[in-house]
Amino acid sequence: MSGFVFAPADVASVPVVDSAARFPVHRIYCIGRNYEAHAREMNATVSLDAPVFFMKPADAVVTDGADVPYPSATQDLHHEVELVVALRSGGRDLDKSAAQAAIYGYAVGLDLTRRDLQAQAKAKGLPWDTAKGFDASAPIGAITPIAQCGHPASGTLCLDVNGVTRQSADIATMVMAIADIIAALSSCYELRAGDLIYTGTPAGVAALQRGDVFAARFPGLAELRGRIT
Ligand code: MN
Repeated sequence: MSGFVFAPADVASVPVVDSAARFPVHRIYCIGRNYEAHAREMNATVSLDAPVFFMKPADAVVTDGADVPYPSATQDLHHEVELVVALRSGGRDLDKSAAQAAIYGYAVGLDLTRRDLQAQAKAKGLPWDTAKGFDASAPIGAITPIAQCGHPASGTLCLDVNGVTRQSADIATMVMAIADIIAALSSCYELRAGDLIYTGTPAGVAALQRGDVFAARFPGLAELRGRIT
């Protein structure tokens, strides 16, 4: 630990399917309002010109099978199942083909949300950070490299809670396609290898309680399972 006044935190990381090596997380970006039916259920509108981006801390990841502690400061923890894109390279102002070439693989994840704090922030025109970027707010399954799963453009993204399906939609109904999301993000941030991008949630978001067991699935990707404690 020479060079540091105390030991730095461990690098947050995510398992990779069929690999002993892990994916080191640099940043976690998220897009909001990327499925029209979900935007409607939130009384919001979608816009291709002005996507809603926000971030979570890299160490908010919770890997498959691990317990998720019910967060402090909320009475209304919500699940948002999302397809997650993992980057192997980055850059600024990427065009669509460069954006696609930056993809390492895909996973399923949950954008956990303190919905009550988000509603308060929206009402006051304040930032979403405490509603979105809290500890353990980014459960994610093992990452499948594109050599195994290709670049999925359709398929049903699904979340079961206690064995009952809560969210189910085809990713083909995304408002902004994945390469467009990456390209738009790269006009705001210099993207880097290790970045994760949560690509928005379908309709059906709802509350999670302590003791709930969840399972998130997408064809060809590793399932994400966990429990709220
Ligand atoms: Mn979300």
